[in-house]
Amino acid sequence: MAYSCFCLFWAFIFWLFFLLFLSFPAIISEKEEKEEFLMSSPRLCFVLPCYNEEKALAFTLEKITARFQSLVREKCIAKESAILFVDDGSKDRTWDILKEASRTHPSIIAIKLSRNCGHQNALLAGLTEAHRLGFDAVISMDADLQDDIEILGDFIKKYQEGYDIVYGVRSDRSTDSFFKRETALAFYNLMRLFGVPLVHNHADYRLMSHRAIGALLSFPERNLFLRGLVPLLGFPSTEVYYKRLERVAGETKYPLKKMIAFALNGITSFSIQPIRLVTFTGFAVFVMSFVILLYALIEKMAGKTVSGWTSLMFSLWFLGGLVLVALGIIGEYIGRIYIEVKQRPLFFIERREGTLFQERKDG
Ligand code: UDP
Ligand code: MG
Repeated sequence: MAYSCFCLFWAFIFWLFFLLFLSFPAIISEKEEKEEFLMSSPRLCFVLPCYNEEKALAFTLEKITARFQSLVREKCIAKESAILFVDDGSKDRTWDILKEASRTHPSIIAIKLSRNCGHQNALLAGLTEAHRLGFDAVISMDADLQDDIEILGDFIKKYQEGYDIVYGVRSDRSTDSFFKRETALAFYNLMRLFGVPLVHNHADYRLMSHRAIGALLSFPERNLFLRGLVPLLGFPSTEVYYKRLERVAGETKYPLKKMIAFALNGITSFSIQPIRLVTFTGFAVFVMSFVILLYALIEKMAGKTVSGWTSLMFSLWFLGGLVLVALGIIGEYIGRIYIEVKQRPLFFIERREGTLFQERKDG
């Protein structure tokens, strides 16, 4: 009995060693793979949407290509990386400049949308294209280089640490006008109040891995509000901080009208809180009407009915206005459902330029 126990014990120990021996190469190769991932430079694509940016592009092209080359030299990114410009149906010389740049610089590629589809749709066009071309990750930024390109290395470092999404967060907005700063702050606060998961002070300067973009592209949304959608993806995410710079040339393509439309889109695409607000207000007014009824009855019993006319008229107009506001907000949502149901394509690419497209015979 003691002898068989002894044999069993040693057989068990032998079996354990055997298993360890089998799994050893796997452990080593896993470690090597991780190290290799950390060491290898990703094939990155920088996506820059442009709308009437002829004044800013000369400076932007010079700066971004110089930074691109330094990143390749430092082995931060693979030399097969690219800079993808999306011409969002510009009416000036933007496309001619981009076409020329894509011919003289092998890393620059450009696509032209058939009309002005708006910043968010142009950005999505760029992300879709970069995803289709199989880049490891994408960094999106504005074509006026207000987003500081000196911190691009930080984005890539975070990606190599295993983050799928890296948000560029503005630590300093002193270069923005007082109006822009205050309206942006009000917008973020309002969005937070309505429960929309926004990263504070983050616009569209962000890195996304191939799989994060794949997930984003599976959203069938028509009313695009990317900075609300991206946090919904999940995946490991982090932030890097930068100081927002001045626009290099030209003027903002986001006048007040577009800013309001953008904010409205953000709220109505993500939150049903405005409808709840209307419901709560309606409920409060309903309770209040009983108080008014009591007041009217007392006034009537006291024989002062004529004096009740003011409150009656006030209630009439007040409720009329409230009902109209409620109808308007509900109408806004129905309008959006209507647009979503139609599932119209958000963009059509008219042409493709750049050596990369020719090599792949996609152009
Ligand atoms: N943009 C675009 N389509 C538009 C409006 C803007 O592609 O319809 C681009 C624009 O060229 C820029 C970026 O979106 O690269 C951000 O626009 P802008 O710098 O004017 O906005 P701001 O920084 O003033 O908020
Ligand atoms: Mg700008």
